[in-house]
Amino acid sequence: MSDPTRFDLDDRQRAMLAEMGVRVWWPQSPAPTETAPAAQAEPVAPVASPAPVVQGVAAADALVAKAETVPRVAQPVAPAVAARPVTVTPVPVVAMKPLADGVDRMDWATLQATAAACQACDLCQQRQTSVFGVGDVQADWMVIGEAPGEDEDKQGEPFVGQAGQLLDNMLKAVGLNRQAQGAGGVYIANALKCRPPGNRNPTAQELATCAPYLARQVALVQPKMIVVMGRFAVQALLQTTEPLGKLRGQIHNFQGVPVVVTYHPAYLLRNPADKAKAWVDLVLALKTVQG
Ligand code: URA
Repeated sequence: MSDPTRFDLDDRQRAMLAEMGVRVWWPQSPAPTETAPAAQAEPVAPVASPAPVVQGVAAADALVAKAETVPRVAQPVAPAVAARPVTVTPVPVVAMKPLADGVDRMDWATLQATAAACQACDLCQQRQTSVFGVGDVQADWMVIGEAPGEDEDKQGEPFVGQAGQLLDNMLKAVGLNRQAQGAGGVYIANALKCRPPGNRNPTAQELATCAPYLARQVALVQPKMIVVMGRFAVQALLQTTEPLGKLRGQIHNFQGVPVVVTYHPAYLLRNPADKAKAWVDLVLALKTVQG
């Protein structure tokens, strides 16, 4: 009988993990360890040659934590990530100009039209398109990135460049697809709807000004899980400047929705060694959604 706490990956998901650059290996030793109760059924042993197979979520936490650097000798398995509430440091932020009245009560179409015409901050002056979001507006999952880049500004869709390809592969590895409606659906939005010129970092004021749009999107989608990617998206959503590394591995909360923090795909392209950590974050999110 299949174990409901397990998440067995199919060929496509394994391929996507490989695409993410996450290498995992087949657990060989039956000996349990004390440090990893979640992985006791399938303790990890290194392999001599790469054998990219993931057995399931319980084992994947431990497996992938070591996935980028295949050890030469057996090592203890990393402890399973504990999901616990956290206290965050609030960011003092002041919005630039007020948004249109009633953003917090708008329906989807009005909200999107209002964001498209927004002039609350200077980003409106150089934008080609306001990038509202893409995907199933009733999805169980929401992914929140930082801000549109050049390609997104032209095409009006979030994450369409190289980082977007990596994001799509990350999502596919947990059974999600931006084109899917219903099961497997995901809604992708950014903290900022307009591109910062030259792809500079968003300012705290821009993030604060734009935040009500994102808050209303979350209220309308009512996801069961939010995955927030990158420090500026985290800053906007969780109102904290704590380093991202400190916020990972915990379940945060936004409007009553569980939030998992992870690295931005653009960062992962520059720092592929951290892709394994991003996979661990996705597994935490998946396990949380599965209850
Ligand atoms: N980076 C983001 O955070 N969002 C995008 O839409 C594209 C790149």
